Amino acid sequence: MNIIVQKFGGTSVSSVENRKKVIDKILNKKKKGYDIVVVVSAIGRDGDPYATDTFKNLINPKITNKKELDLLISCGEVISSIVLSNELREEGYETEVLTGKDIGIITDDNFGDARILDFDRTNIENSLRKNKIVIVAGFQGATIDGDITTLGRGGSDISAAVIGGYLKADCVEIFTDVDGIMTADPKIVKNAKVIDRMRYLEVSQLAEDGAKVIHPRAVEFAERFDVPLIIKNTHSNSIGTYIEDANGEFIVDKTGLESKKIMTAITYKKDRLQVCLKLEDEAIMNKILVNFVRENISLDLINFFEVDKVFTVDEEDKEKVAKILNKYEVNYKMIESCCKISCIGYKMRGIPGVMANIYEALTSKDIDILQTSDSHTTIWCLIKEKDLEVAIESLHTRFKLYE
Ligand code: ADP
Ligand code: MG
Repeated sequence: MNIIVQKFGGTSVSSVENRKKVIDKILNKKKKGYDIVVVVSAIGRDGDPYATDTFKNLINPKITNKKELDLLISCGEVISSIVLSNELREEGYETEVLTGKDIGIITDDNFGDARILDFDRTNIENSLRKNKIVIVAGFQGATIDGDITTLGRGGSDISAAVIGGYLKADCVEIFTDVDGIMTADPKIVKNAKVIDRMRYLEVSQLAEDGAKVIHPRAVEFAERFDVPLIIKNTHSNSIGTYIEDANGEFIVDKTGLESKKIMTAITYKKDRLQVCLKLEDEAIMNKILVNFVRENISLDLINFFEVDKVFTVDEEDKEKVAKILNKYEVNYKMIESCCKISCIGYKMRGIPGVMANIYEALTSKDIDILQTSDSHTTIWCLIKEKDLEVAIESLHTRFKLYE
């Protein structure tokens, strides 16, 4: 069996016209002899009648428990699978609609953001054997007790990668509303360019740092199962972005990975809060950190010096952080509405001049750099959110990512 998994996001399945393009993509591969597993997201975006956020807005989340909320929002993907299945049948094709539970996606009971524990290929394989096009409701699974769970925003990407991995698919195609992974979010940088080939590692970093074009856990699963991931546009015939592990051959004959560019892409995360404390007492600092863990507060961009301790947290956690720091009567300062910019490139560290160029690109536009950090794939800069667009444009130009 040569299987291809194709995932279509919310905007791809949002109207009859768009679903015609989806059907073209499916039939194109079907006619080439592949067995096709389609994974769909809910139809449209917030405000559209069957979108996930629309369902959420029907109820008061403070009263509904998380289990019921998951049951409610899992319906969006069920609806879109059945609509698409119906349209494929109108074209004369045999289909089978399966929910996350039907295909044995077993998760933990962390409703709303559940982790996948297991998967059972039997039902999908039985349907494929009957030459049916399988349509799976993405974004969902079920606990071992049979309660429906959801996988978090963007979770259909994870469903697709897991199915592709377990079924040993030839590839997983993620169809969306842009031509592939680009050098920056095309909504911010007009001359952002599609990247032909990328490493799992780079895409993982990009996704982790905010580029919502693919879910980071989908990249993780694809890498773990070694299944190629391709990001493509439902509305065009672009070849998209091909993601796989870099092996020797790949590097020699493909310019994408060994391109001379040290930076591959730029992304960002908004709603960051910078916290700076002055504290020498190690015992108190320890207690504060334990309190952060207890309150599930995740720290980022952590720079601890003898007296000064600097880090960022999600803006949502502001009150919780302030409460803990006040409890220990710590002298601290908070800077709100920050944004973390990530400049990503394979083995960027150690190449002279990268930081100098980043610094120049930002300061020449009068942008204050609040903090920086780096790893071997990424340099992060914390700036004020108001400077976000100018900063990304300026970095994108300075590193000639448009070329
Ligand atoms: P879907 O509904 O198909 O899952 P998403 O909205 O989740 O689509 O993801 C696609 C969007 O990701 C694009 O419209 C684009 O604005 C955004 N995006 C952010 N960063 C990037 C990037 N580096 N390359 C491509 N798209 C990006
Ligand atoms: Mg998405």
